[in-house]
Amino acid sequence: MQTSNVRPQSLRFHELTRTEIGQWAPETTVVLPVAAIEQHGPHLPVQVDSLLAESISIAAASQANRDIPIVVCPVVVYGASHHHLIYPGALSLSTETLLRVLKDLTDSLVSSGFRRIYLLNSHGGNEECVRLAARELALRHPVIAGAASYWTIAWETILREGAAASLGIVPGHAGGFETSLMMALHPELVQTDLLPLPLNRPIPSVHKDPAAGPLIQRHGSWAAIDGYSDNAGQASTEHGKLLLDLINRAVAEEFVRFHQLT
Ligand SMILES: [Zn+2]
Repeated sequence: MQTSNVRPQSLRFHELTRTEIGQWAPETTVVLPVAAIEQHGPHLPVQVDSLLAESISIAAASQANRDIPIVVCPVVVYGASHHHLIYPGALSLSTETLLRVLKDLTDSLVSSGFRRIYLLNSHGGNEECVRLAARELALRHPVIAGAASYWTIAWETILREGAAASLGIVPGHAGGFETSLMMALHPELVQTDLLPLPLNRPIPSVHKDPAAGPLIQRHGSWAAIDGYSDNAGQASTEHGKLLLDLINRAVAEEFVRFHQLT
């Protein structure tokens, strides 16, 4: 583990000057958070995934920064949300557009001198795009590229230590899991008087990381569930704090592991 205390002057890429970025890029891991603006049920704002991406990437990077030099880019707040266009509130990029945006931004990071680039995703609809962007980046340039959704990185600890399954579907959408995270981070943005949400379908007892196993998509499924995965009735601030703690720690460990790859 690297023990040097010399670090970039800020964790935030956009607070650094060109001189500082040029100086630090070759030996620093850079994180590009990728999120979305889209409906999150009747009780949460459309910026949930963007707020979570910002919070988790900065908190995890600040923990990782004890061991490695790391900076975090501004969040790519727009993601692939065409499946939410049936509701008001989505500002969506098509898959093709998002891939091009991620290609241009990661190429820009390479131009600045970065050689370790991690795409941290907070929105299910971006999953394939961030992985493809990382795969192709490492084909085009002599770099190490990583990509994952935060819940995939923290999956085992979320289920084992976070008891997240008792909240609803993990990670779900606008259900108990995300509602708890938002209650912990931005309680003023959660309309708890609307909870629990109406729900007349069973919640599965087995939870699987959406990135693992076959992908099954049903046309019209988002309309059928009214845009949320579960009723969020069990969501709580305490549970959100516990989950954020576990997630931030797991993502920090992932950043350190990634940085130390040769
Ligand atoms: Zn979300």
